[in-house]
Amino acid sequence: MRGALGGPRVLLRRLREVMAEPVSAQERLDKIVVLIAANMVAEVCSFYVLRVDGTLELYATEGLNRTAVHQTVLRSDEGLVGLVAREANAVNLSEAQAHPAFSYRPETGEEIYHSFLGVPILRAGITLGVLVVQNRARRTYSEEEVEALQTTAMVLAEMVASGELSALAKPGLEPAARRPLHLTGLALSDGIGLGHVVLHEPRVVVTNFIADDAGRELKRLEAAVDSLRADLDLLLEHRDVADGGEHRDVLEAYRMFAYDRGWLHKLREAVMTGLTAEAAVERVQSDTRARMQRQTDPYLRERLHDLDDLAARLMRQLTGQGHAPARDELPENAILVARSMGPAALLDYDRSRLRALVLEEGGPTSHVSIVARALGIAAVGQIANATGMVDPGDPMIVDGSTGDVHVRPPADVEAAYAERVRFRARRRAQYLALRDKPCVSRDGQAITLMLNAGLLIDLPHIAETGAAGIGLFRTELQFMVADAFPRTGEQLDLYRAVLDAAGDRPVTFRTLDIGGDKVLPYMRAVEEENPALGWRAIRLGLDRPGLLRSQVRALLKAAGGRELRLMFPMIAAVDEFDRAKAIVERELTHLRRHGHSLPDRVHVGAMVEVPALLYQLDELLARVDFLSVGSNDLVQFLFAVDRSNTRVADRFDPISPPVLRALKMIADKGREHGKPVTLCGELASRPLGALALAAIGYRALSLSASAVGPVKAAVLDLDVARVEALVGPLLGRIDGPTALRDRLEHFAVDEGVQL
Ligand code: PEP
Ligand code: MG
Repeated sequence: MRGALGGPRVLLRRLREVMAEPVSAQERLDKIVVLIAANMVAEVCSFYVLRVDGTLELYATEGLNRTAVHQTVLRSDEGLVGLVAREANAVNLSEAQAHPAFSYRPETGEEIYHSFLGVPILRAGITLGVLVVQNRARRTYSEEEVEALQTTAMVLAEMVASGELSALAKPGLEPAARRPLHLTGLALSDGIGLGHVVLHEPRVVVTNFIADDAGRELKRLEAAVDSLRADLDLLLEHRDVADGGEHRDVLEAYRMFAYDRGWLHKLREAVMTGLTAEAAVERVQSDTRARMQRQTDPYLRERLHDLDDLAARLMRQLTGQGHAPARDELPENAILVARSMGPAALLDYDRSRLRALVLEEGGPTSHVSIVARALGIAAVGQIANATGMVDPGDPMIVDGSTGDVHVRPPADVEAAYAERVRFRARRRAQYLALRDKPCVSRDGQAITLMLNAGLLIDLPHIAETGAAGIGLFRTELQFMVADAFPRTGEQLDLYRAVLDAAGDRPVTFRTLDIGGDKVLPYMRAVEEENPALGWRAIRLGLDRPGLLRSQVRALLKAAGGRELRLMFPMIAAVDEFDRAKAIVERELTHLRRHGHSLPDRVHVGAMVEVPALLYQLDELLARVDFLSVGSNDLVQFLFAVDRSNTRVADRFDPISPPVLRALKMIADKGREHGKPVTLCGELASRPLGALALAAIGYRALSLSASAVGPVKAAVLDLDVARVEALVGPLLGRIDGPTALRDRLEHFAVDEGVQL
């Protein structure tokens, strides 16, 4: 073959005609393979479709025995066709039969063909089938020929994805393009959501693949690239990013690619094969996505992500499509699917229509996860290529308690989940019925349940749960979801709104806990080897007192005429507490001098999160008004396991003697000094954790809103004296790693305590 007959542009034009003909799907396929073979001067052209069972079925052929159509089926690990599908990459061989992957199928009669070119039929980086041409002569296909076949494959991908071929399939062996998928990611926010896919950044739907005038398309492409570059240059000059930070690095990378010759060359080449500018971008983007999925090096993966983003921007330039749906455009029962998303973007959607969120990225401590939890939206992260695997409107189920995601679920799966949703609704109704009941155990011990909160959207939870107040208000969340440093006035407004919403129930504000995994997008990130052990929380507050001072001032002003409770995070030494408290005293003096209304009383406390405090409890308790145990961090530091590293985070059980001994020591010392001790880590948010805490003397817990009902239900069934009698002796014994937990679970079952 010495160059394709008429070239790829002629082929694409002919394909367009065939696509428009009112013929059956099989006739259309038969015509297409004839066209491709003729255009590429190949003796064979075959079209294989990936089926739901993972095998590849021959759907059409020119050159091989026609009787093999719909009869020849290859496993995905079989033959050269399987290799193309598996690797999502072209295979170009002058002597196919010498390749170790070659598999001979006598019914096809392909033994006389030596050269082989196979390309994957890709859509959004997902393989839907394989397109092959073969020749008798031993030859290597030229780069242009490979390119032309890939372009043709892209047009065919749309045909497969449209579902047109399903009519040709045997039941249960349909094309895989729209098969049900069961994916598993990372559970980010509890809840179950059933609904339909909405892409946060909708894919641009290319309807016109084939260009009438390549010169014009090239001009369109170049104009779009120019304005993309201009946009990026402008963004980089913008004051907010000009100062540096992570944001800037990302944009710099984009700009680098936008000027990258290789990338532009690929785009231009795709246009030269006869595609419209947007179809050319889609081709290059689909390739990038396929490569991304095979890439394990995190750095390269990130760069491929950048390229993918850039292509998406370019696509939006070319078509004007692809922008996030406006707030009021969101359909009912929407499940948002995104590569990643900022917290502000999530807040922009109408909560009443949102059922769940699925992200390709996203960790449990990411800001969007925090907001999803506050909004009570089920969320799952770390679903690779989620945006590529779904189409808008696809039915989907998201289980935020397990991390399971079902795309286009079969009816039985949907029915099972619908039942679980009903069950959860019944449980919620039971918890709601407990709302106004005092939280007192069977043997008369009162356990105070308060809320963990941090955003305005958390405030209605006080009334909904009947909580006794807010035991931990994480002030950094306002900073984390903002685009720029909240001004003192904005802080003041929030604190006032919180105190107003709480009425006469107490609120404990924690001063800014930033650094570590809590990064502010607009603050220059400090590179640290071990951020969890680094310059964070009160350390940052004491070294840069301006920030802490203005926050304390806002808190004192907001609480004018009422009580204020505030505490400092990550105190490791008593003198840190002294210095932080001195800032409060100074601000009080300042406000008094300027005639501001002051709080009636200020209670100043410390969080116990650093193990060193365990050995300074007497000195600390002599100074503080109260203590609050941050068990998330305390456990992280006691066991030396990074709480945000999913590999190790659950390696050690907090319901075990070493942790409970430490926690008991804090509760005992608090009682000895007559100072209240609360616990506000996740441990308190699980009924079994709450049981263990009650057993070692905790009578005040602060938990997430969704945990109040389950924990209260458990306390109401509990006999505290009996659980104390069980746990006390077990604290003195180190048995197996889950021995204490197991005994506690058995106890709960025997005593009829709902967990
Ligand atoms: C904790 O560490 O337990 C805690 C409550 O604080 P945070 O989870 O915000 O670090
Ligand atoms: Mg903490």
